[in-house]
Amino acid sequence: MMKMERPQQPNWLKENYKKWGRKFKKKLNNPNLKNDFIWAIHHRTKVNVKLLPILRNATFKHCAFCDDKIKKGTIEHFRPSSDYPRLSYAWYNLFPACSDCQEKNSEFKGELLKPDKEDYEFLRYYLYNATSGEIEANPKANEQDQTRAKTTIEIYKLNRPELIEDRMDCFENYKDVAADKRPFRFVFIRKV
Ligand SMILES: [Zn+2]
Repeated sequence: MMKMERPQQPNWLKENYKKWGRKFKKKLNNPNLKNDFIWAIHHRTKVNVKLLPILRNATFKHCAFCDDKIKKGTIEHFRPSSDYPRLSYAWYNLFPACSDCQEKNSEFKGELLKPDKEDYEFLRYYLYNATSGEIEANPKANEQDQTRAKTTIEIYKLNRPELIEDRMDCFENYKDVAADKRPFRFVFIRKV
């Protein structure tokens, strides 16, 4: 939702991500094994436990997709691990997310917006409608960008009722609160 500046990939991940990806692919192809994704263990710690704090810090503890504040959070595979097993440990495929956004599961479309892309900016694609509490595709964006915004809103369900309610509450009650303490950062970004 807001742009994410991706920190440098930890060396231990760089050294192992291909191997772990291949291993998960093999598991998926074996009909005798359960095919759910389970994080590998590195030096006695699960990889997600090591990565989550790094990813969460990169978004100042916000979900990369809906921007809600996350307490614990989870790691979202942007390209789903079930269809892209080789990318299941690829640094650029991993995002900090809330558990609701992670429910997108295996849904994926190439036009989904990726919040760590160099040219990604909230207002290039979206607008926050403070009257309805909804996120909308920016009507000034070109057709392709609007389609991408709409697809992202749809797949991550960015206008789910509880989000709308929380955003409106944020808009009403967090005006005087420091930006880093607000649950949603984009609701105060002015239209251009
Ligand atoms: Zn979320």
